[in-house]
Amino acid sequence: QPRIVILGAGHAGGSAAAFLRQYGWKGGITLVGEEPVAPYQRPPLSKAWLKGEATAESLALRPARFYAQQAIELRLGTRVAAVDRAAKRVLLPDGSALGYDRLILALGARPRELPLPGAQLRGVLALRNIADADAVQAALRPGARLAVIGGGYIGLEAAASARALGAEAVVIEREERVLARVAGRALSAFLEDAHRARGVTVLTGAAVASIEGEGGAARAVRLADGTRIACDAVLVGIGAVPNTELAQAAGLDCAGGVVVDLAARTSDPDIYAIGDCTHRPLPLYGRSGRLESVPNAIEQAKQAAADLCGRPPPLPEVPWFWSDQFDLRLQMAGLAFTAQESVVRGSTDGPGFAVFHLDAEHRVLAVEAVNAPADFMAGRILAAKQARIPPAVLGDAARPLKDLTA
Ligand code: FAD
Repeated sequence: QPRIVILGAGHAGGSAAAFLRQYGWKGGITLVGEEPVAPYQRPPLSKAWLKGEATAESLALRPARFYAQQAIELRLGTRVAAVDRAAKRVLLPDGSALGYDRLILALGARPRELPLPGAQLRGVLALRNIADADAVQAALRPGARLAVIGGGYIGLEAAASARALGAEAVVIEREERVLARVAGRALSAFLEDAHRARGVTVLTGAAVASIEGEGGAARAVRLADGTRIACDAVLVGIGAVPNTELAQAAGLDCAGGVVVDLAARTSDPDIYAIGDCTHRPLPLYGRSGRLESVPNAIEQAKQAAADLCGRPPPLPEVPWFWSDQFDLRLQMAGLAFTAQESVVRGSTDGPGFAVFHLDAEHRVLAVEAVNAPADFMAGRILAAKQARIPPAVLGDAARPLKDLTA
């Protein structure tokens, strides 16, 4: 029986193992992961888990018994050292080797490190796995002060969770607005206000120069303009770096991610790659790029499993993402690369609103919704079709969008 080995037991790897069985793969499946636990969901780490509202069971991607039931062999706590493509085997840390017929790389990404003095001090934290989240949580005692470097999703979510736990949070963003890379201006402005209204200090255009310590522990963040922000711990949330080293060493094509096609195939016909570690086609936008989201991990897991099981590739999906901060549920779909115009539907002072991003011909490219799930659902369909809708229609909150999606 042929064996598929999946490297990386995260969201993408765990999903691929499950889809392979669902699509009828009869051969062996071995899931090798560095972390000591079976695949789990990362999104709650900065949300429910940090607030103490999640359990190991609720975090798990599948119940523990699933893997034995589905004959999926788990090799946890195992960091793969190398891939030997010529011999079709992966090298394990104990010097042994594991042969494969087909290999799936699902190695994820790791937090980008702060290249500044003081980054190695105790209390300078990152947030990617359960151990990281536990360390952040331990720092969030009531009254403690968390300095968050980076106003991205993880930083903003952690700041919101810190407030929920009675800690203070200061978000320090180098760009002129939070979420500058991934959201439109209206959403950034709304979130800055929302965080400030809930007690978070948000600093934009603020360049960090160093982290200052006392007795080896972080005590303050020093900005380039000399400002000193006292704190008890620092969370660095400045993006993630794809884990491509194994693929690069094995000679696979990489371009800021392992290069794959729409069936998740790499430049080696026997090796697939999925999830955060890939550089993938974005067919709706005529370009390629790297996505870091659960829906992307699942979509690519389906692509790989379908191809390996001889099924036609699934239809391309519109990239989408969500984030929870305080009582705000954010949902985003589409990518606004070539947007020329944005339309706000509803009021940013109201219970919910959505921002639609349109190109010059009024095609819907992307939607960002805050506590507006119906507008999100409609926007996601419109973005998938890149439907042309007059801005006045989108902006008229009295007119249901449902009628336009048929
Ligand atoms: P991962 O889940 O990171 O899995 C990769 C696995 O490979 C890891 O377990 C790693 O230890 C392992 N590995 C790496 N190298 C080796 C090796 N050499 N040998 C063995 N194993 C190895 N997405 C959303 O859509 N919505 C959200 O709200 C959201 N919130 C998030 C909050 C946080 C705090 C984080 C960290 C991420 C969040 N994401 C969110 C992103 C989402 O979790 C990722 O996109 C998703 O986990 C990607 O899955 P993956 O399998 O590619 O990578």
